[in-house]
Amino acid sequence: MVIVLKKDISNGQKENLTAFLHSHDFKLNEVKGEEETVIAAVGRVKLDVSEVELIPGVQRVIPISRPYKMASREFKKENTVVEIKNSKGQIIRIGGNRIVAAAGPCTVESREQIMRVAASVAESGAVLLRSAAFRPQSSPYTFEGLGEEGLKYLKEAGEKYGLPVVTEIGSENLIPMMQDYGVDVYQIGAGNMQNFDLLKKVGSLGKPVILKRSYTATLEELLMSAEYLLSAGTENVILCERGIRTFEHSTRNTLDLSAVQVLRSLTHLPVIVDPSHAVGIREKIPAMALAAVASGADGVVVDVHPNPEKALSGAILSIVPEQFDKMMHDIEALAPVMGKSVYHIFSGECAKSERKSDSKKLLVAYSGKKGAYAEQAIGRYFDASEAEAVALDSFSDVFQSVADGSCDYGMIPIENSLNGSVYQNYDNFSRFEDVEIAGSVTLNIRHSLLGLKSASLSDIKTVYSHPQGFGQSKKYLDQHKDWALVDSVSTSTAAEFVASHASKSNAAIGSIVNAEIYGLKILAEDIEDDPGNFTRFVVIASRDRINKSENKPLFNIKPNMASFIFTTKNESGALYNTLGIFEKRRLNLTRLESRPIKGQLWKSWFYADVEINKEDGDVYAQCASIYEELKDKTEEVRLLGVYADGR
Ligand code: PEP
Ligand code: MN
Repeated sequence: MVIVLKKDISNGQKENLTAFLHSHDFKLNEVKGEEETVIAAVGRVKLDVSEVELIPGVQRVIPISRPYKMASREFKKENTVVEIKNSKGQIIRIGGNRIVAAAGPCTVESREQIMRVAASVAESGAVLLRSAAFRPQSSPYTFEGLGEEGLKYLKEAGEKYGLPVVTEIGSENLIPMMQDYGVDVYQIGAGNMQNFDLLKKVGSLGKPVILKRSYTATLEELLMSAEYLLSAGTENVILCERGIRTFEHSTRNTLDLSAVQVLRSLTHLPVIVDPSHAVGIREKIPAMALAAVASGADGVVVDVHPNPEKALSGAILSIVPEQFDKMMHDIEALAPVMGKSVYHIFSGECAKSERKSDSKKLLVAYSGKKGAYAEQAIGRYFDASEAEAVALDSFSDVFQSVADGSCDYGMIPIENSLNGSVYQNYDNFSRFEDVEIAGSVTLNIRHSLLGLKSASLSDIKTVYSHPQGFGQSKKYLDQHKDWALVDSVSTSTAAEFVASHASKSNAAIGSIVNAEIYGLKILAEDIEDDPGNFTRFVVIASRDRINKSENKPLFNIKPNMASFIFTTKNESGALYNTLGIFEKRRLNLTRLESRPIKGQLWKSWFYADVEINKEDGDVYAQCASIYEELKDKTEEVRLLGVYADGR
């Protein structure tokens, strides 16, 4: 039942109420909302609703209508985010706004095999290593795994690459051994979904559990199994859709992607999807992983094997590392559409220079006020547990702060899909010679018109925003030609301005995050000209900091992009010859910008983004060779960074 508390409930009354519920063996979950505080209570004893309603301090009681209780949305409104720490101390969260990928071979076959797969999937962006040491098979004649030896290799590989280990448990007898090898996440296989004794035992460990849906189970049955885990003691259950049995035989199972959306409303638990065991056709797996992300899944789990033809199990369900790498880049591109980004293993370290705060976290500077899009980009790229966003007054302050080491990184917008380049930042790169690019992230920008709580659309006379906010909402503003438009430093500055001036005629264009932060009302939503409104931000850092990381990318994801700035020689064919360096290598120039050089009439420098072919070998070596050749053909050149493009 859900017990809604009276607003004026005293501490004594609350203690009385919880003591009463505890005395009847109820498990409680208190949720403090803005409007009301509720206690969700589940237990075996059947209490009369009116009996609880009579207890002082209780406003009303709503019975939980579902047969599963702790797994239901009624018990807990906000999403559960499962936290798993890796060997580098980074916390991987499943169920937040980042997509996670778990990957590995179906079964650990040898030390060499698991180390090789772990290295490759980590580099492509997996954050969990998943493989079986003990493999319950549907046939007694297939490979059952290496057993304890497999657990040992899994642990070694997981630790080396910062990937927490997920492994299947088919029998409670294995619990002590799996605990000894520090298994991070237990997987209950589809075949064991209704092995209730096993669920109770594994649930009581309090560790995260991936619960796979049986191919014959309804979603309600899946949630009843989750209820066994939750009521036994773990709060960290991740549901996994892996295909159900239908009359269709052209795929191994039928991947039930609508389950993701249905589960979202029934439960607060994170949901991931395993396209490998559902589809069972190698070349069709990556597309279904993308479909899973598009359906709103919190992550995907796929079987990856370097040599599936020789795999001792799961051959046809496994994709090869190259497919996985491509799949991860595609997911990376899709994530912003879903308002999400992809989790990566962090490989940076904290700077020791003078800092603006004594926080042990990385300090990441952005320009604007709380709620700015750049602050959201920081939240996407870094993890809240590892980074603190530092608000500064301008883009050049952000560059300055990373140049002098008072912040570790900066997050700056560089281009927008509707409005083009953010020229100031191109210019800042030429001003701050020691600042380089360490990474990039793309955000889907959605604007709203925000006004005072008491205002309505007809009151508006003046609208404040960053010029980009105006530029991206042109069509909407054209319908209100009488409004005066006033530029602000950032959209969040505009929102703050409107909130702090008691005039109903003012409005700001900014994100709905700003509405919440500054207590404003959303007068119109999604007013951008085109839903394809994306801003690409780059993460900047001092060259010193990037060098210290010895060419290691900021996150454990393969770099695929390099940025150069150069000035050409003052001779005919100079630009043509320079660009020939990229053409010769068949490299795709995704962006070429030219900017005037101050004080040198009609002279420009160029900024170029180049996609590097990872297939052509070491990306850093390729960039070094391009750089050497550019040095020869240009007047001046700087390699701004080799990084993974988050697009
Ligand atoms: C597995 O995940 O390797 C597996 C055997 O899957 P399922 O339990 O979904 O069949
Ligand atoms: Mn498998």
